[in-house]
Amino acid sequence: MESKFTEAYQEAPDEAYATDCERVSYMLDMVIDGEASSEDQKYFNNHIEECVNCFESHQKQKLLKGLISGHLQRVIVPESLAYSIKAKIQETL
Ligand SMILES: [Zn+2]
Repeated sequence: MESKFTEAYQEAPDEAYATDCERVSYMLDMVIDGEASSEDQKYFNNHIEECVNCFESHQKQKLLKGLISGHLQRVIVPESLAYSIKAKIQETL
């Protein structure tokens, strides 16, 4: 039990973020600008599939960038993703 805890703790990177959400919000700009590494991008995508908060801030940020660059596009969310988000929301209620 104890060694498992230590292991998990040591896995945190040096510039450790307190939470996944913090890490993701730090990546957000790079991901939107297409500058994130594919590893970061993957991490990011996985996270926003599970985390409604980060998903929403990603959507908002994307919209904002779209407005700024003058290319406002309708944000298309796959139905399966929308469904899983709705399910998540209901789980937390
Ligand atoms: Zn999050």
